[in-house]
Amino acid sequence: MPKNKVKIIKSLCKGCGYCIEFCPKNVFERSDELNEKGVTVPAIVRGDECIECGLCVMLCPDFAITMEETDDE
Ligand code: SF4
Ligand code: SF4
Repeated sequence: MPKNKVKIIKSLCKGCGYCIEFCPKNVFERSDELNEKGVTVPAIVRGDECIECGLCVMLCPDFAITMEETDDE
């Protein structure tokens, strides 16, 4: 299990899909969920596969992705 967990701040997402496209572990996938901007927010479907490379956090143009420490062992 990754020590840090990626999280999407849904209200900030503009649905560009960069995180889906560039995550080396395919953690993100397209979803049907709309945020208040009316764009589809990616779903985190393989969070356990995350290698904590930080690419998604760096690439997201709207700073909508964060990594938070988890309590999981
Ligand atoms: S930190 Fe790296 S592996 Fe984890 S979700 Fe982001 S891009 Fe994917
Ligand atoms: S890179 Fe950021 S703004 Fe683009 S779809 Fe992913 S979370 Fe949303």
